[in-house]
Amino acid sequence: MSQDNRKRIKQFEVMVAERIRETHDTTTLILFTGNDHLDYKPGHFVTIDPHQFPALERWTNYLEDMKGKKETARAYSLYSAPHEKYLAITIKEEQYVSGSTKFPPLLSPVLVHRIDAGSKMVITGFTGPYVLPEDIESRTDHLVHVAAGSGVVPNMSMIKHALATDMKLSHTLIYSNKNWNDVIYRRRIEELQRQYPGKLKVVHALTRERNMEQFDGDVFAGRVNESLIRDLVPDASVAHFFVCGPGITKYDRQLAKEQGLDPAPRFLESVIAALQSIGVERSQLHHESYG
Ligand SMILES: Cc1cc2nc3c(=O)[nH]c(=O)nc-3n(C[C@H](O)[C@H](O)[C@H](O)COP(=O)(O)OP(=O)(O)OC[C@H]3O[C@@H](n4cnc5c(N)ncnc54)[C@H](O)[C@@H]3O)c2cc1C
Repeated sequence: MSQDNRKRIKQFEVMVAERIRETHDTTTLILFTGNDHLDYKPGHFVTIDPHQFPALERWTNYLEDMKGKKETARAYSLYSAPHEKYLAITIKEEQYVSGSTKFPPLLSPVLVHRIDAGSKMVITGFTGPYVLPEDIESRTDHLVHVAAGSGVVPNMSMIKHALATDMKLSHTLIYSNKNWNDVIYRRRIEELQRQYPGKLKVVHALTRERNMEQFDGDVFAGRVNESLIRDLVPDASVAHFFVCGPGITKYDRQLAKEQGLDPAPRFLESVIAALQSIGVERSQLHHESYG
């Protein structure tokens, strides 16, 4: 970790000023920090330690016994951008799927459903390598954001920041979800498109939506793949790509190893493979895994 980054990391006691229900399983928490100086970059994340919530104590202890190790702090990207007054994070509830997930999720259900306005909590930040590089305008004039689910959070911070500070960049957001009702920030994305005409193109890829007739234009059925990216990004050799979403987890790796298999690629690995196959260079590619 660089010295610059270490200096930036500290603990803050924050108060939840507002909670915004984004979708059936996703909530944004607007966090009031008092007079703390908020020195972060678009794309940075904070961490939240589950041990601080008394209501979770027995559950945390139980999971630690089951897993034989201490529960760690969870990372949450900032949805807010440095020019905004308050910090904000957006949390999507992780599901427990009987017979498929090994343990029930610990922290995300609580943050999504049980933290009310006025609650206090401690967050630690700011960190992470997935940020908008300061010299990005000298490298390209087109950012392509490829995100799935809550992977859109840091990209929205980057988009808001770049637009608000008048950077010479246009943005294409390729956003993957299962269904239309899972799309986070729908209204705010539309507002940004109205506010900055021609600067933000948004295309949705829905993997399980049955009711596709309701859409026109920029909503496609299926996964983000090579041909969709080729069609949407004619300048792929000069654009920069910011890819964020679920990737192979250490648990996927362990399980695959036990079975003598390679772990199956998830969203992140599939999109990176698609980008590489259309000739996108390493230097044009920025990514973060939520695995
Ligand atoms: C850099 C980064 C940024 C992120 N930003 C966001 C964000 O902006 N918004 C957001 O919603 N999420 C974000 N995440 C994901 C977030 O950190 C949490 O992973 C997520 O909220 C789930 O946490 P949880 O405590 O609810 O679930 P967990 O308790 O962590 O469980 C998650 C899954 O892991 C499995 N698991 C846990 N422990 C074990 C074990 N010992 N063995 C086998 N399987 C196990 C569980 O069965 C479950 O399927 C980010 C992650 C990273 C790395």
